[in-house]
Amino acid sequence: MDCRHEPKPTLIVERMADIPFTPPAHKANGFNCPHSNCRAYADQYWGAVTVQLDRRGNYTAQGLEIALCARCQKESIWLQGLMVFPLTSNAPPSNKDLPPDILTDYNEASAILAHSPRGAAALLRLCIQKLCQHLGEPGKDLNADIGSLVKKGLPPGVQWRWMLFE
Ligand SMILES: [Zn+2]
Repeated sequence: MDCRHEPKPTLIVERMADIPFTPPAHKANGFNCPHSNCRAYADQYWGAVTVQLDRRGNYTAQGLEIALCARCQKESIWLQGLMVFPLTSNAPPSNKDLPPDILTDYNEASAILAHSPRGAAALLRLCIQKLCQHLGEPGKDLNADIGSLVKKGLPPGVQWRWMLFE
């Protein structure tokens, strides 16, 4: 009997669906903060943007608003009902157990999703490849790796999601 017990890889993907996430929405009283160092669900305080113009006094810009995050005190900027800053997407935050090198790729994919869905998809594929390697798979053939992980206990639903993603 082999007494060397390798620790069973943590199936990070399984828990990702359990994280509640409310994407930023125009005029919503609360949502997950779009700033990458916050990302918490927090109240949002809305206001129109008023500037002082030379010789004309105060001017309220039409359709330009800010939402201030109650947690991190950073603002998101909205133009005509669309968030234009920070440059991010409505992608949910990563699982907190994600290894740092994969987290970097995930955050980059999230940041470019709205402007380059194909680029984001390529980065997410890289994330899955690295995650398979992190879980002890070779990382060369993702279908084989995912199939192997399913045999080891990864929920089959995750395999389906991966096939849809491809
Ligand atoms: Zn925040």
